[in-house]
Amino acid sequence: MDQIIQQLNNSNHVLIASHTNPDGDAIGSLLAVGLALDSLNKKTVLFNESPIPAVYRFLPFIERIEHEIKDSYAFDTAVILDCGNIQRLGKSAETVSRIPVIINIDHHITNTRFGTSRLIDISACSTAEIAYGIIKKMGIRINDAIATSIYTGILTDTGSFRFSNTNKTAFTICEEMIGCGVNPYEVARHVYGTYSLGRIRLLNLALDSIEISENRKLSMMTVTQDMIEETGTQPEDVDGLINYVRRIEDVKLAALIHEEKMNSHHSNGFKNFRVSLRSDGSVDVAAIATSFGGGGHASAAGFDIETTLDEIKARIIGFSEKL
Ligand code: AMP
Ligand code: MN
Ligand code: MN
Repeated sequence: MDQIIQQLNNSNHVLIASHTNPDGDAIGSLLAVGLALDSLNKKTVLFNESPIPAVYRFLPFIERIEHEIKDSYAFDTAVILDCGNIQRLGKSAETVSRIPVIINIDHHITNTRFGTSRLIDISACSTAEIAYGIIKKMGIRINDAIATSIYTGILTDTGSFRFSNTNKTAFTICEEMIGCGVNPYEVARHVYGTYSLGRIRLLNLALDSIEISENRKLSMMTVTQDMIEETGTQPEDVDGLINYVRRIEDVKLAALIHEEKMNSHHSNGFKNFRVSLRSDGSVDVAAIATSFGGGGHASAAGFDIETTLDEIKARIIGFSEKL
């Protein structure tokens, strides 16, 4: 921590970045660290490769997040947030790897320990919790914009204080953030408030896709590109759907297979899938995801795979035999 604070204090031109297809923690910790460094008058670029999901566009200074790294930028320091490995940054991973000082701040058990210095705390409920610790230790004043970012990161990564990563610190920080100007109702209204009609229709199709293993211990949901197109939704509308399969009685392992939009056509009929895994705590899904080249936490993990839908479904259903 002390080394990282020194590096941040000595930095002049900083890139702050988080993972593609960002969740509330990736966006919240990115804004919190970015705005905190702004208050030290550092030259900063806040970066995320993907579009910002609609539910997070209310966050103060969200327009500060850029989606491409211009060649002209000559950064001396990069702060990478909520990424278990540097490839999670997306196509820019290679460019970012060339920045002299790379600070890896994360809470995933599968973190590959990339970068020149690291602050990895797998007991932290969110990367926003770790970001809060750094900001406090640097003596930076937490204004209402920084507070709202930290609060949103903690709220969303703990599933509104329901998931197994919910710890005492989650509550103490959030209480403090409310004292710094966060309006919990306003945050909840944006993050959980309204759904487009398309999203509800997508939910309908997704629920219809649910398959359960013979022993009832594994559940699986599939969202295809056809469903996304038919309902006029965005990939971000798939976020949270896995909770419906995770909650089914007796289920120990839940999977969501999400077919991604393809930019180029595969001649072999393969498609790109994003697979999300959740467990009731009795199965280590981080280990399963790692075996497919992904990562995450023991009870929530994911991976990307290029294959056919039948093949990935068969492989996932196969896990039920070990449950
Ligand atoms: P998700 O299912 O996308 O909500 O992701 C669950 C957890 O696994 C999150 O903490 C992600 O950061 C992590 N995760 C998802 N996909 C990957 C991947 N391809 N590589 C590493 N970690 C991942
Ligand atoms: Mn994340
Ligand atoms: Mn996180």
